[in-house]
Amino acid sequence: HSMDIATPSRTKEIIRKHGFSFKKSLGQNFLIDMNIMRRIVDAAELDEHTGALEIGPGIGALTEQLAKKASRVTAVEIDNRLIPILHEVMEPYPNVSVVHGDVLKVDLHALFQDRFQEVERVSVVANLPYYVTTPIMMKLLEERLPLKNIVVMIQKEVAERMAASPGGKEYGSLSVAVQYYCEPEIVCTVPHTVFIPQPNVESAVIRLKVREEPPVRVSDEALFFEVVQASFAQRRKTLWNNLKARYNQLMGTEALQEALEEAQIEPSRRGETLSLDEYARLSEAIGARMA
Ligand code: SAM
Repeated sequence: HSMDIATPSRTKEIIRKHGFSFKKSLGQNFLIDMNIMRRIVDAAELDEHTGALEIGPGIGALTEQLAKKASRVTAVEIDNRLIPILHEVMEPYPNVSVVHGDVLKVDLHALFQDRFQEVERVSVVANLPYYVTTPIMMKLLEERLPLKNIVVMIQKEVAERMAASPGGKEYGSLSVAVQYYCEPEIVCTVPHTVFIPQPNVESAVIRLKVREEPPVRVSDEALFFEVVQASFAQRRKTLWNNLKARYNQLMGTEALQEALEEAQIEPSRRGETLSLDEYARLSEAIGARMA
């Protein structure tokens, strides 16, 4: 397909034509490989009933492929220099709309109302700007948007942390947060040679199947995430020392000890060994003693 944007020749042509210069500070690394592109689009399982939300369309390499598969595509791009380029290259695709803005500031619920009312499901599909991966992902998940799945290209280390199981050194508060909302699965790793300009890090495509309900029951989500944060505050310390630093003042040593006992968790363990289920038990037991 010589027409595809995600090729070195077409990408260079568009960039030259518009005199575009990359901004490193916006995480601008454009994908120029159709094989990787297909892996991303296939993983999203789009069809004529699906809406696609893209974050950071760049010059539209992925947008174009989404437009061919999805019912409608909405792409949010922060860089105003890219807006006229996107309008031009997306002209053949009337089901695409481009929104100029910072995705972290856009009212996504309103955007969903506006754009995705008549689709059956929505997927987020993006080659994310790496400098804001975590805030973007947390916004998507915490706002509880009606999403079917999220398929994103991100830094490989971050993908590994999102998908990590308890016990390893990649497992941390990001793993717990992501797995509370989703079932993650790494689709493939991606060499830096498939981008221009090439990023300094390795990348991976990750698919997050959004859960209809969390895998554990917690009565106070804020407290649950706070307990998780506290448990990982200093990774070399035991659970006991980390929890004491946070909750000693609030509830006293004895109550904290009781909470661990009730949750059946050894205080000498480390935060990185606790499953979601154990974190849920622990936060319930702590919550019961703080009230
Ligand atoms: N989708 C294109 C591709 O795959 O070739 C471009 C991906 S590039 C890694 C990331 C894009 O996100 C850039 O176009 C950048 O301008 C845009 N971007 C960066 N920060 C953003 C933000 N906060 N909100 C929306 N878009 C952003």
